[in-house]
Amino acid sequence: MSEPLILSGKDVSQSVYTSLLNRISILKDQNITPGLAVVIVGEDPASQVYVRSKTKKFKQLNLNTESFKLPDSTSEDELLNLIHNLNENDQFHGILVQLPLPRQIDSQHVLETINPKKDVDGFHPENVGLLSIGRPRFVPCTPKGIMRILSHYNIDLKGKHVVVVGRSNIVGRPISILTSLKQEGSNGTTTICHSGTPDISQFTKSADVIIVALGVPQFLTGDMLKDGAVVIDVGINRMDADTEKGYKLVGDAHWESISSKISAATPVPGGVGPMTIAMLVENTVEAAENSV
Ligand code: NAP
Repeated sequence: MSEPLILSGKDVSQSVYTSLLNRISILKDQNITPGLAVVIVGEDPASQVYVRSKTKKFKQLNLNTESFKLPDSTSEDELLNLIHNLNENDQFHGILVQLPLPRQIDSQHVLETINPKKDVDGFHPENVGLLSIGRPRFVPCTPKGIMRILSHYNIDLKGKHVVVVGRSNIVGRPISILTSLKQEGSNGTTTICHSGTPDISQFTKSADVIIVALGVPQFLTGDMLKDGAVVIDVGINRMDADTEKGYKLVGDAHWESISSKISAATPVPGGVGPMTIAMLVENTVEAAENSV
């Protein structure tokens, strides 16, 4: 096969930011600056990196963002109090609580306390419910970003077999719903695989589009694919390597073995990751527009 088409989330995210500039300027004319409150509890190094990269983009676009850093020992009541205050604070149109939370805190309880109209991550049960009945309000950022990449590159899912590997509430479950919604660009026939699926390759071998979101480095290999498949690689995994940092980032697909079989794929890094941040900005702009 010829070289696969690289589905560049980096490029698509730039076009998202360009398209948001006008919407942001209309809001600013009404004295509204879209604002995001980011809550982070504890010192988890990966979470610190994610929060920094999310807030950096808001700053670059002159949007309002503030990080609320709480110690690892924070009680659930203390965190809920902060969320109640942020729900009432007009400066913040979106609230994001970085997961995972320390053990003493019930994450689901926290997510349910966020005002669903400020839930730009789309994890509140009200938003999850709206998505599952095909009336999405805030769609979780990573799956929303995947759908945007597919539409940008004119990859229509109608009549296609889509296989999703992973069923987390953040990625696998919502993307399985989005890909099978009865709407333009979607309408795929979706199979969802997980750790309880025996022989995942029997499903991936018949897939036109495979979305791997399991967090297992280089899980998907060429022998698991049919010729011409499209691969969306959500995984971000550190692998030991002879680099300055001592590691490199790899996805859930094994690029060297899949690249001769596929027609297109997202790279890691530069694929789904930049789109997750772009969709967070877009959801926050939308929340600000809805507040008028
Ligand atoms: P997660 O919450 O750990 O969920 C992983 C899912 O994969 C689970 O449903 C699990 O099955 C399934 N799974 C794990 N090992 C498996 C195996 N060997 N065979 C089949 N299924 C398996 O992870 P996540 O939050 O969805 O993230 C997945 C990956 O995407 C991670 O690498 C993460 O870093 C990355 N990620 C990237 C972005 C981005 O912006 N690019 C955003 C979010 C996540 P069970 O349900 O049975 O446990």
